[in-house]
Amino acid sequence: MNFIKVIVAIALIVLFLVFVAQHAYYVQLNLFGMTYQVPLFVIILISFAVGFILPALYFLVKDVKHSSFRKSLMKGISHLARGYFQKAEGELLSASKKIEEVALITIKAIAERGEIHRARELNLSREKGLVDAILGYYLLKSKDYQKAKESFTSSLSKDPYNLTALKGLRDISFLEKDMLTCISYQEKVLKLCEKWEKDLQKRVFAEMLAYASEILPEKREEFLKKALDTYKTFYTQAIWIKYMLEKGDSKEAKKQLDKAFSEGTQNEVLAILYQDEEKLTKIMDFIRERQESINPEVLVRIYIKLSLFTQIKPLLDKVSQPLKLIALSSESHRDIDKTCGDVLQKLYRPWVCSCGEVYNSYVPLCERCLTWGNIILRRTDDAF
Ligand SMILES: [Zn+2]
Repeated sequence: MNFIKVIVAIALIVLFLVFVAQHAYYVQLNLFGMTYQVPLFVIILISFAVGFILPALYFLVKDVKHSSFRKSLMKGISHLARGYFQKAEGELLSASKKIEEVALITIKAIAERGEIHRARELNLSREKGLVDAILGYYLLKSKDYQKAKESFTSSLSKDPYNLTALKGLRDISFLEKDMLTCISYQEKVLKLCEKWEKDLQKRVFAEMLAYASEILPEKREEFLKKALDTYKTFYTQAIWIKYMLEKGDSKEAKKQLDKAFSEGTQNEVLAILYQDEEKLTKIMDFIRERQESINPEVLVRIYIKLSLFTQIKPLLDKVSQPLKLIALSSESHRDIDKTCGDVLQKLYRPWVCSCGEVYNSYVPLCERCLTWGNIILRRTDDAF
């Protein structure tokens, strides 16, 4: 091996010497008005050297810059992961002014310190709408709906397909009860979302339509039919039954109610339906026949609504203390007790979200954690 190397080296030296010998004659070189006599091979060698050295220098400087950027990016991310948010921000702030993707990590570090409003004022790269979308996301989480809306709208003006911004604006429209806008955003979300969340977004859309049907009576039937075609949940089912009862179609209402019993969603459906006395009367025979399969907590609420106090007595030991109190106050003939009963009814919150927030009646979106479809009926033995 070494022998081959020596041979190759000797061959190269010989070739070089031949090259020098062939180009050893002098040529005239005019430089800045002066004339020089220079051997030709020297000029050729210098030209080669300059041709290689200049690009090499250029790439070397570029590589040094890149590697120092990479180093500070890695440092910033590891500071963030280790909980040193101020250090992470310090490391990444200057790069964030030029590179929007880096600014996203900086915003995360600022948000972790609870200073998201400060991030709005920073000079960060915002060309692609990524920074605006993520700012909107954190502002929404901190319940600053107006500023979140501004950020999301600005993000969409740069990138109309930003899913984070579309979902954010959808949630804000829902909280503001602007249901038509909310629906139009959800239609876009449904179209753009990835396959893994298609089903979830369909569910959101269905519940949103059912909720909107309650607010916009002129669109009631259209929205409810669309909701049922999109996805069936206990909420869409309950609102459909409610609508059937309103229309006087008790047969269809009972058919749907029967389905709810066979699917095991009867408690949720009845807990949504319980509010309307008149409608409850229409399905009372049906409820009585199946009262064994109904949660006592739900059943007692229905009986209170219909003032069927004799039915309540045997169930009182099976319900939570607050409901027991409501039942006893409602039965009393004294005005003060009745007023207390009404107040307690308002304070009674049988629905609970996975984040712990409690609700008096079902809503598709939890305002506290901003998740959809996570609110369920509380079990009787849960602490109220
Ligand atoms: Zn929640």
